[in-house]
Amino acid sequence: MNADQLELKSCLEKARGFHGDLCAGIVLGTRMAILGLKAIGIEDPCGKDRKNIVVYTEIDRCATDAILAVTGCHPGKRTMKILDYGKMAATFINLATGKAVRIVARDKQADPKKEYSPDMAGQEPNTERYTSVPAEDLFEVREVEVDMRPEDMPGRPLRVVACSVCGEGILDMREIVKDGRTLCKPCAEGRTYWREKK
Ligand SMILES: [Zn+2]
Ligand SMILES: [Zn+2]
Repeated sequence: MNADQLELKSCLEKARGFHGDLCAGIVLGTRMAILGLKAIGIEDPCGKDRKNIVVYTEIDRCATDAILAVTGCHPGKRTMKILDYGKMAATFINLATGKAVRIVARDKQADPKKEYSPDMAGQEPNTERYTSVPAEDLFEVREVEVDMRPEDMPGRPLRVVACSVCGEGILDMREIVKDGRTLCKPCAEGRTYWREKK
């Protein structure tokens, strides 16, 4: 085994330990994380570089668990933003240098014309293949710019206000001001994901 294979093996172990099994999504997420960290020049994400990295993932599935386990970024530290786009993609940002890359998983060997193959969504048969296919046949890496807002950065909340309708507190400038009133998102939109039990 060469150094790259050893690194992949130990990262896969870490991801499997966190997620519970070694599925295709874990393999893709692990490889994306290794690739992303290298591309933005982060060597020690869980150690000395841990305050310099933020990841945006675009899927609420297995791959995100792998990215969390390998990069050490997680939502509670505000170093991982989970965007529910249903896409096998993630953006890795080095806060110290500003360098950022967006990586999209794209199975070029399966069907070069396809933008996205549904078989990448985490089915078992591809686990083996995704481990061995060269990265350039599996991922598209593009350097990007991400304008992170101050209210999205790790650290203490910038502001806490109360919603004028439900009275609940709102952190980090997520409030919406409508007709001079400060509202939380659900009150402003007039809908919640839950409803009162009758
Ligand atoms: Zn899984
Ligand atoms: Zn409210």
